[in-house]
Amino acid sequence: NQQIILVERPEGWVTPEHLKLIETPMPIPGDGEILVRNHWLSLDPYMRSRISAAKSYAQGVEPGQLMVGGTVGEVIESHSDRFKPGDMVLAATGWQLFAAVPAKQALKIEGDDVPPSAYLGVIGMPGITAWTGLMTICEPKAGETVVVDAASGAVGSVVGQLAKSVGCRVVGIAGGPAKCDFVVKELGFDACVDHKDPAFEQLLDDALPKGIDCLFENVGGAIFESLLPRMNVFARIALCGMVSEFNRPPHAHHTLRSILINRIKLQGFIVSDHMQTWPDIRQALRQRVAAGEIKFRESVTVGLENAPAAFVGMLKGENFGKQLVKLID
Ligand code: NDP
Repeated sequence: NQQIILVERPEGWVTPEHLKLIETPMPIPGDGEILVRNHWLSLDPYMRSRISAAKSYAQGVEPGQLMVGGTVGEVIESHSDRFKPGDMVLAATGWQLFAAVPAKQALKIEGDDVPPSAYLGVIGMPGITAWTGLMTICEPKAGETVVVDAASGAVGSVVGQLAKSVGCRVVGIAGGPAKCDFVVKELGFDACVDHKDPAFEQLLDDALPKGIDCLFENVGGAIFESLLPRMNVFARIALCGMVSEFNRPPHAHHTLRSILINRIKLQGFIVSDHMQTWPDIRQALRQRVAAGEIKFRESVTVGLENAPAAFVGMLKGENFGKQLVKLID
């Protein structure tokens, strides 16, 4: 077997050298377990928090331990009557090629209306995050303006398409013209502003003539600071993530004053607090994806040994769509 483990906790930028590929014995499944050969590994921004020393909502990865992560793979040996060899499963087995997993911690992937990798993205944790934050915190209404940053990414792309489907004006923020083109032309957003454009503030003014009623915040930092003063009275903010903040020292933002002045409702949320709603949301997303109503894009890196560089790249915006690692030929 091959695994990727944490070597030491990064301070500031994470580099591929903070992670290491090691050879380990093949796992042996016990009673009630299945042996899975992973086909796909999901790379997600939350993994940066897991390797940080800072306090967070979930248990961290210690130096020397296997990196955590969602995987999709094939059952090659089963000691459970719920699975047979050849079944495809979704599980959180981490950055490794093979894993022995308790059957009750694996979800069987059935049907071929969506590809198995979609269980890690558009109909998986990121898609369910988009649905949860948008519908329960933003509660968008037809005619309102919804803004989402990291708009071409796994979460943002679903947020915008869902908001369009309830009749909102949807403006994305993304890094570079290619991502912005995709967001407008493929995903159907009304506009997209390139945060790397020197005229960013002016372009925001042009795209947001009626301000922002609902902000789905994925990035934090300078982009969040630019958006806050444009919020409307009684606007809502779903604080989903702050991917740009991982490598910045914490500090207070004077722009947070807009939250007070405009009586904005801001709520942070963690999608894993809402596990009871996952099956229904997954089913609803799946129907829309299979019907072509929700589109998605994947960034595929091949080979476990290339996962650390792909992870660091994703935190710098080098991914274009849901970042995955393909583990088989
Ligand atoms: P993405 O697929 O969106 O990939 C990350 C993207 O973030 C990059 O492609 C880049 O897009 C953008 N980005 C990175 N650094 C910066 C920066 N300094 N400034 C601006 N943009 C930057 O990732 P996900 O869709 O998986 O995750 C999106 C957010 O959702 C993350 O913050 C994540 O932590 C959060 N999340 C929260 C969950 C919860 O339960 N609360 C659950 C799942 C995700 P670009 O090039 O367009 O700038």
